[in-house]
Amino acid sequence: MSRGMDEGDRAYRNLIGGEWVEAAEGGTFDSRNPADTSDAVGRFAASTEADAVAAIEAAQRAFLSWRESPPTSRAEILYRAAGLLEESLDALSVELTREEGKVLASARQEVRRTAQTLRYYASEGLNIAGETLPSDDATTRVYTRKEPLGVVSVITPWNFPLSIPARKIAPALAAGNAVVFKPASETPLMGVRLAEALHRAGLPAGALNLVTGSASRVGEPLLRHPAVQAVTFTGSTAVGEHIHRAARLSTRVQLELGGKNPLLVLEDADLELAADLAVKGGLELTGQACTGTSRIIVVDAVHDAFAAKLLGKVRRLRVGNGLAEGTEIGPLANESQLRSVLSYVAIGKDEGAELLFGGGRLTGEPYDAGYFVQPAVFAQVRPGMRIAREEIFGPVLAILRAKDFRDALEMANASEYGLSASICTSDPERMEAFARYAEAGVVKINRPTTGNAYNAPFGGMKLSSTATYREAGREAMAFYTRSKTVYHGFRGIKDGGMAF
Ligand code: NAP
Ligand code: MG
Repeated sequence: MSRGMDEGDRAYRNLIGGEWVEAAEGGTFDSRNPADTSDAVGRFAASTEADAVAAIEAAQRAFLSWRESPPTSRAEILYRAAGLLEESLDALSVELTREEGKVLASARQEVRRTAQTLRYYASEGLNIAGETLPSDDATTRVYTRKEPLGVVSVITPWNFPLSIPARKIAPALAAGNAVVFKPASETPLMGVRLAEALHRAGLPAGALNLVTGSASRVGEPLLRHPAVQAVTFTGSTAVGEHIHRAARLSTRVQLELGGKNPLLVLEDADLELAADLAVKGGLELTGQACTGTSRIIVVDAVHDAFAAKLLGKVRRLRVGNGLAEGTEIGPLANESQLRSVLSYVAIGKDEGAELLFGGGRLTGEPYDAGYFVQPAVFAQVRPGMRIAREEIFGPVLAILRAKDFRDALEMANASEYGLSASICTSDPERMEAFARYAEAGVVKINRPTTGNAYNAPFGGMKLSSTATYREAGREAMAFYTRSKTVYHGFRGIKDGGMAF
């Protein structure tokens, strides 16, 4: 069988050593639609450590030949997988919406982005290059060569269940590494679909292995097994810190974590644009983006006018099932997300912030079947409040009042996170100052905090990322390769210079 699914029972399996196999202990779990929990998206292998170890060992074996395969054939496989994903764009996007909840238009964008990412790294794999250094000794050539690392563990969140794994798996494979991929338990089907596309595209057995199931049962070997040379993780800061401590000293670790991303609105901003940026950056994807806008820092002079404009737009947003025509905001991805968002709304009220709109669970048809909330807007939020400091990861906007640009910039930077930061202004000097002084890995000027180009580096500062490697773009390749320095002598060391 070349597919991960048994059509009859919608049961999907792990991919280990090129075979679709059940979990060693035979356990399963279901993935459900957060817009309608009666809709089971599929049944998946509830893996344990034995499965993770089998996957790592399969990867270890496959690495020996995969690393020697012609870069051109690796590129061709990534290209073919991109084509397979695009061929199934319609069906795959619907599955993505059913499994994760995002609106169908966003799901389609994610599928396309995933295919683009595979193609981009197909090409980047052909550009891996060391350098030749000038040598004082003409009979010794000194150069560096870039090599793959070996087995790479890929651990990913549910919010971009195709595109985030792709931007890790594609550069890893393009560089000649073998991969063990553990998708979020919330979105195993998207993990299966991505693995399936690469498998059907001709990836040799074991070069990519997929293990589904709860991290609490499969996680340890992915971090601690001596064959694992690198762990690349995207998810919460709390889990990231655990991984950072748990990984072995010799294991390379890349962590892409949370954010508390600010949007500054200055007195010379186009307020219509500013409100659109707040809605798009903060509420699209139901606020479940690591780069989502959650703090809107508005200078006094335009505070009330901006708040009124924003409210007008938020009130009109249509919340519903992401598959329904006209829906702008889908459900939260699961029940714990729902509980967490509702609890932050209560915390904000308790702390004395003013809830201008929303924040309640939506009830009645069709909301009772899923995890829907009315997007919330808080005003009178002060920098010390928890809703101004902690990542909520939901559709909750906090408006903070600043005296002027300098005050707003200080507030923006007074965060333990530093992923994305945006400014809305028409003043070129402030744009430049913001680009220089914002403590964030991604800076946006008159653009939403969300959204990043697949060919541009991505990552944060402070608690948002490890301070080492970047994801996406050309820079991503550095994580998946290591450098070796070679001194290549041509003659005996006591002989004279080069003969010609
Ligand atoms: P999460 O709970 O940290 O889970 C992320 C992944 O880690 C899942 O596959 C999870 O598996 C696994 N995991 C959990 N505990 C683990 C452990 N002890 N050892 C190894 N793996 C473990 O995050 P999430 O709720 O899925 O995603 C939301 C978070 O991701 C937010 O904080 C968001 O800001 C962040 N995020 C960051 C970026 C970025 O690029 N910076 C992008 C998107 C999201 P299970 O599902 O089985 O628990
Ligand atoms: Mg689900």
